Amino acid sequence: MKIAIIGGGLAGLSLAILLSRQDFEVLLFEAGEYPRHKVCGEYISNESKPFLQALGFPFEQYTIPEIRQFRLTHYLGYQAQTKLQKGGFGISRYALDNELYKIALAQGVQIFTQTRVQNVEKQDNKLHLQTLDQQNFEADLVVGAYGRVSNFERGEARAKAQLQPFIGVKYHIEADLPADHIEIHTFRGGYCGISQVETGKFCLCYLTQNNRVKDFKGDLPAFEAHILGENPYLKRHLAQPKVMEGVTTSQFYFGIKPATQPHILTLGDASGFIPPITGNGMSLAFRASAELYKLVLAYKEHQSFEILQKAHQHYIKTYLHHRISQGVFLQNLLFRENRLFQTLMMKSFQYVPFALQMMTRKAVGKDIIVGSL
Ligand SMILES: Cc1cc2nc3c(=O)[nH]c(=O)nc-3n(C[C@H](O)[C@H](O)[C@H](O)COP(=O)(O)OP(=O)(O)OC[C@H]3O[C@@H](n4cnc5c(N)ncnc54)[C@H](O)[C@@H]3O)c2cc1C
Repeated sequence: MKIAIIGGGLAGLSLAILLSRQDFEVLLFEAGEYPRHKVCGEYISNESKPFLQALGFPFEQYTIPEIRQFRLTHYLGYQAQTKLQKGGFGISRYALDNELYKIALAQGVQIFTQTRVQNVEKQDNKLHLQTLDQQNFEADLVVGAYGRVSNFERGEARAKAQLQPFIGVKYHIEADLPADHIEIHTFRGGYCGISQVETGKFCLCYLTQNNRVKDFKGDLPAFEAHILGENPYLKRHLAQPKVMEGVTTSQFYFGIKPATQPHILTLGDASGFIPPITGNGMSLAFRASAELYKLVLAYKEHQSFEILQKAHQHYIKTYLHHRISQGVFLQNLLFRENRLFQTLMMKSFQYVPFALQMMTRKAVGKDIIVGSL
């Protein structure tokens, strides 16, 4: 059976690796190339560790910081800290995606980089893919792991992303922070995460409302100095040298996306995007791969496409929807611009550390094990 995967991010690559071990012929199309930097906070919840180990990620080749402590700071000057129950680790997308790409290649996945799939059509029980450079391919199943923003977004999904004008920015910086800490710093209209990655440098990544940056005519350094710099804890980090040119991304829709092409099984951010405050988007991408892998194995044995599609949609509409809703709730707490509300929230986190711990627990799931969820 031939499976085509559109998008070689974490969702697409991990599914390709799993399927290629089961004698499927796997074609993977990636519009970009490897390695490359992507906008991401680069904090991975420990729920993904067993999954990455099962994929063969070479942990032993890297010095990977184990992250156990969480600190939340506020632009009004408050801060609160707690131990993370599950914790996580830091690894750059530059290294992570590239290692998974190498594993997929070594396992015989046919990977077409710098190849954007433009169209997928169903004819006579086969799916026909056409790329931007006019190549044609055929497959029995097509998985859309094309991320948050893609030419595949149609109608309602595209309109919703455009209605939510946020931008995300990432740098790698030098920082004076313990390796086992992750910090989230709020600022007016956004928040910024900082934690260490495998290079010993720190990933500084923020999400903000676009109109805030427009007030500074798109001048990010000026915006950062004035708005992010209002948070005294964050100001300290902004003064540190950057060791990587910044990367940016835009168009966010926090929620489940409407399925517009029924013959494409969506995966990862293409199914729905969770607010980055949770630090859980990557884990949800891996979890979705583990889940779809199980369903595709059953499909190969005896099921109809309709049963596969129904079971896949059930996962999206129940589990994924629930996790994204929790993330939206957490993000809305930070975005509420009411001084009294923010003060009360931060004081309760400061004096009742259990409250902050409860908040961090909302962001994580159970360990991802291949074969079961
Ligand atoms: C600001 C920000 C901070 C974040 N911080 C964290 C964090 O700290 N921890 C965490 O766990 N998650 C975080 N996330 C979320 C995480 O980055 C995503 O959830 C994760 O990358 C999803 O993986 P994916 O494979 O679904 O999509 P992606 O990694 O986006 O991969 C999709 C791929 O598809 C390709 N593609 C698109 N269209 C086509 C096409 N037509 N043909 C071929 N290829 C195509 C793209 O080039 C891309 O490589 C953050 C996200 C943002 C925006």
